[in-house]
Amino acid sequence: MERHRHCLNCGISIPVGETFCSERCKEEYIKKRKRMLRIQLIVLFVIFLVLLIILGLKTGVI
Ligand SMILES: [Zn+2]
Repeated sequence: MERHRHCLNCGISIPVGETFCSERCKEEYIKKRKRMLRIQLIVLFVIFLVLLIILGLKTGVI
């Protein structure tokens, strides 16, 4: 049985109950996640725009 976990940011072994090896790693992970969320939002927006254009072309609005 595993008695340790891995830091969500760098992957090194940490005690059970901990999520990150250090405060700095935690901050880094949160920053990375925020950046990823922003990219996902942009991707969603682009998909939405493409869908709108396709629908517009089909119905002859554009
Ligand atoms: Zn770490």
